[in-house]
Amino acid sequence: MKKIIRRVIRYQCSVCRTEYTNKKEATACEKIPIQKPQFKKGDTVWCTGIKVCCGAYYYPKMKVVKVIGPAKSDHDVLGGHLFLYRTRYRCPRCKTVHENEFWPSDICGEPKQVCVDFLKKHRGEAG
Ligand SMILES: [Zn+2]
Ligand SMILES: [Zn+2]
Repeated sequence: MKKIIRRVIRYQCSVCRTEYTNKKEATACEKIPIQKPQFKKGDTVWCTGIKVCCGAYYYPKMKVVKVIGPAKSDHDVLGGHLFLYRTRYRCPRCKTVHENEFWPSDICGEPKQVCVDFLKKHRGEAG
């Protein structure tokens, strides 16, 4: 039996700390601009969508409890170096307090009219 020890070399982006096996990719990542944070701790934000609890619709009004980043997002439509927002909200139906992390495209600074209209039509609650 032979013991094999392999050295693994990784390159880390100094902005978002994402690790790459390839130096070129890490350099390219570092060149991606950092988007300015849109929200700060304590801000009130709304989810971009309606939620369902106990068979009823509601529209969560959330508080930003932490701004995380810059982080790299492949999920967010904006892409690149962005900030992630940890938010807290209480479900108006069951009163459970939720904490979730959102990319900027998943939250807005004011309630979306389409969601407000949906709530009125379906007798939902604003949370
Ligand atoms: Zn990066
Ligand atoms: Zn609930």
